[in-house]
Amino acid sequence: MLTAYKFRLYPNKDQKEMFSKYFGCSRVVWNKALELRESYYKEHKNDKQKKGLNYYDTTRFLRELKRKEEYNWLKEANSQSLQQALMDLDKAFKAFFKGISKYQNYKKKTNRQSFRVPQFFNFTDNLLYLPKMGKGIKMEVHREFPLSRKQKDSKNRDKARLMVAKTHEKVASQRNDFLHKVSTAITKQFDTIVIETLNIKEMKKNHGLAKSISNVSWSRFFEFIKYKAEKQGKNIIEIGMFEKSSKTCSVCGHVNKGLTLNEREWTCTDCNTLLDRDVNAAINIRNFGLNQIGLNQIPSDRGEYKPVENSLTAELVKLNIQARSTSHDSEKQELYAMKKLKLLIGAGSP
Ligand SMILES: [Zn+2]
Repeated sequence: MLTAYKFRLYPNKDQKEMFSKYFGCSRVVWNKALELRESYYKEHKNDKQKKGLNYYDTTRFLRELKRKEEYNWLKEANSQSLQQALMDLDKAFKAFFKGISKYQNYKKKTNRQSFRVPQFFNFTDNLLYLPKMGKGIKMEVHREFPLSRKQKDSKNRDKARLMVAKTHEKVASQRNDFLHKVSTAITKQFDTIVIETLNIKEMKKNHGLAKSISNVSWSRFFEFIKYKAEKQGKNIIEIGMFEKSSKTCSVCGHVNKGLTLNEREWTCTDCNTLLDRDVNAAINIRNFGLNQIGLNQIPSDRGEYKPVENSLTAELVKLNIQARSTSHDSEKQELYAMKKLKLLIGAGSP
């Protein structure tokens, strides 16, 4: 949106003279161009090939006019202001042809005088600088000029920016904090951790809550687990994308080819076991990983396999996490999803 602001100017004697030159030049250029367009129209109105003059035709005309000795004085005004007069005239013609304004008049000396400076002006607190006007023109700035750069530095803008930055920082640090807590819990509790590395996309597809978690967060989460495991001398086994991790029954090995993404639970038709999609996939990933290092299964005297989500659940309770998010902020949603997510990474303690 454009907003107009009026400020009173106090030009000195020389500047007053320049103003009247600017007024005169703009007026003459407008009138001459209007006259040209009208005569051209009258001459060619029966010629369907010629549609009338446009802005560029009039700028060519202005250049020729300035070369003539009797119009040499047009050079005293800023050429951009004169071009602006031609542009305004062109706009007036277009508006007239569209039927949205009256036909443009010739400008008279007795009318209100004006000219426009489209570029190369400047102003300070109380001085306005215009092309060819020399020293700054005194100006009474009775109100702040929000059109200007000052707005960018305004206190309110700063405040708003700071608030947004703080919120982002808070969310980011909460998310990092959460990732740290969970990765610490996992690496403390288990000696061997199997991660299906290339499955980020699939995980986002499969787990409703994981959908809003960015790849960046996943990658960071895996990085945390990796470096913490390394520090504590734990084993990390990364396996490639395991296509059948969800579809294979972890009890008998039967493959359920028809399993869809929406099925969170399924019953194996071979061994009749009721399987939680995610826990089943996690067990398969674990078994696959352990198989890679020559351990087919966890020795029975080491206790039952427990999905990581159990320890996570405890972690979540400790963190006093609310199971509710109505926020439209994607970062907050992500954080919420992070908190609610059942992290299903196959883990065992051989
Ligand atoms: Zn089965």
